[in-house]
Amino acid sequence: MNLEYVDIDGIRIGLYKDGPVGISVSCGADSAIILYWLMKNVEHDLHIYNLIAEYRKDILEPAFDIVVNKCIELTGKTNVFIHKLHVPKPPPELMFKVYKDALDSGEVDIVYTGLTKFPPDEVYADWEEKLPEWHVQTRRDGQVFAEFGFEMQLPAGTNFADPPLSIDGNPVDKLAMDKRAYSPLVNHNKQSVAKLYKALGVLDTLYPVTRSCENDNHPGSHCGKCWWCGERMWAFGFLE
Ligand SMILES: [Zn+2]
Repeated sequence: MNLEYVDIDGIRIGLYKDGPVGISVSCGADSAIILYWLMKNVEHDLHIYNLIAEYRKDILEPAFDIVVNKCIELTGKTNVFIHKLHVPKPPPELMFKVYKDALDSGEVDIVYTGLTKFPPDEVYADWEEKLPEWHVQTRRDGQVFAEFGFEMQLPAGTNFADPPLSIDGNPVDKLAMDKRAYSPLVNHNKQSVAKLYKALGVLDTLYPVTRSCENDNHPGSHCGKCWWCGERMWAFGFLE
């Protein structure tokens, strides 16, 4: 993969310039800043992939739309294609399959993700909400993760879905993204994301419309209590 690397306040991100680019976008701050940066810099078509569980659609879809529209407004990019996937109960491997299909079909040459590393353990040791251990291990501070082809190790006996976790019908004990999936911030935590917002000058425009909260009882605003609000507060110093 031929990438042109740039340094933004000490954070290295590679820009792909040779063909169509994909990005996985939620409505959170991490994928939003990469989306903004790609819209500013990619001349080829940009494909945006968004996966939402049907039962959370009312909360998350409007937030996603606002983020994408804000990035379009700020950059003026027009050759943007939005792919929304709403499924009743998405198994964890579905997103991996979506990337693979987009790459194999030639729709895009590369898929960016906004995955970031978690804060140091001691930062959230006292937070009220705890994350499952497998989730923490996947992005724990102090480890080095692959920027290309991110892997998610699953503990033995994991069965998130019904039927059990599988890819193309084969049971799996880890999820591995295609090597053409690129996570430039996977070895950075959210404080680096805050640096990017400041360096790119969108702390007052884009950041306030992003949503990191995972508490669906607070549609449209941050609850301030869940783990994800805690991480956002720790990194940025304010929620909205
Ligand atoms: Zn929250």
